[in-house]
Amino acid sequence: MTALKVCLRPFRAAGPRLDVEPVAGKTVIHNYGHGGSGWSLSWGAANIAVGKAAATLEKKIAIIGCGIIGLTSALMAQRAGFDVTIYTRDMLFQSRSVRANGSWTPDSRIALTEQAGPQFGDLWEQMARFSWSAYRDYLGLPGNPIDFIDTYVLSDKREEDKFHEEIDRSKPTYATTGKPQQGAEFARYYSRVTDIIPASLPLDSGHTPFGVASAKRVRRMMYNFGAYGHLLLSEFHQAGGRIVMREFHAPSDLAALREKVIINCPGYAARDWWRDKSIIPVRGQTAWLPPDPTLHYGLAYRGAEMLSKSDGIMIQGYDLDHLGEMSGVGNSFEHPDRIEAEHAINIFAGLFARAPTQG
Ligand SMILES: Cc1cc2nc3c(=O)[nH]c(=O)nc-3n(C[C@H](O)[C@H](O)[C@H](O)COP(=O)(O)OP(=O)(O)OC[C@H]3O[C@@H](n4cnc5c(N)ncnc54)[C@H](O)[C@@H]3O)c2cc1C
Repeated sequence: MTALKVCLRPFRAAGPRLDVEPVAGKTVIHNYGHGGSGWSLSWGAANIAVGKAAATLEKKIAIIGCGIIGLTSALMAQRAGFDVTIYTRDMLFQSRSVRANGSWTPDSRIALTEQAGPQFGDLWEQMARFSWSAYRDYLGLPGNPIDFIDTYVLSDKREEDKFHEEIDRSKPTYATTGKPQQGAEFARYYSRVTDIIPASLPLDSGHTPFGVASAKRVRRMMYNFGAYGHLLLSEFHQAGGRIVMREFHAPSDLAALREKVIINCPGYAARDWWRDKSIIPVRGQTAWLPPDPTLHYGLAYRGAEMLSKSDGIMIQGYDLDHLGEMSGVGNSFEHPDRIEAEHAINIFAGLFARAPTQG
């Protein structure tokens, strides 16, 4: 393993916070709480936040945070003609963002259906469609900042598992406990954008070397963090952007900034620095093996996922105990769990051991 990374998804039951709040004589536009979909929805969320900033007619803008949400907000603000300064405690490569999986997962733990309400579905679709088209500008570039990869979803069963889609009202729910309790509470919006996403293709089981009962191929968009992150940062600097390393401790600290308009992108840290207890941690972990440029595919099998990226082979055990969307919910333990990582790696080691060797 070259790295073992732990991250907390900034989950909010009502979906990301994108409202405007007057604080300390400033106009603060929030852009945080994107759950397991921050990379995927970043451009669309930034477009909404910058649209609100443009209505103030100010020329200078401050962005708090340099994770993927802060950086895309900063770039969208520059494209809208703002003079932009990012204030941040950590740069992108130290932020939680680069501890993610990094693929197109726009409705992963993004909201709860009931708490977000029907209007959020429309806002989600707007963000997802805008992001999807924004990513096209980064395709086909050196280092493949954004890439498409075939992922093979393998199963030992002939039929896909049918998830329990209905909330069981006899059991605890978010409404009764203040925390998601059932996978069925999580919102699913993916069907709204299937017209723009490559469809999955069922494969004859004989078309994979692994001897599994069923398989399908999904062509997925993914983000190579190193190439993409450096490209975004150099775009920001080339357009005259500034980055100031600063940590804020309370909303009143914003009074010291020269900018009157602020886009607030602290991710999970909003729980402490903005005292926003609506943020719920959803822990996740990725293990990284050395990059192998000869591999260009991904696998999903028995609740684990492998993705060969330019910066390493990423392995994530996302459903080791068949918890589905409930995996990691409410868990803020941000330390690596080596046993969990080895379990996920061994799922693929076992799979490859079953495949006939070539040569
Ligand atoms: C295991 C895992 C896998 C994931 N996989 C995917 C995926 O495949 N696709 C996808 O779309 N999403 C994925 N996500 C979700 C995604 O990583 C997050 O939604 C996203 O990173 C949130 O970005 P952010 O910029 O809001 O937060 P962060 O990355 O946490 O950035 C916050 C920034 O704010 C700064 N900051 C915070 N507090 C302060 C303060 N007080 N003062 C100054 N600066 C401050 C920080 O230094 C940092 O720069 C995954 C998450 C996990 C945990």
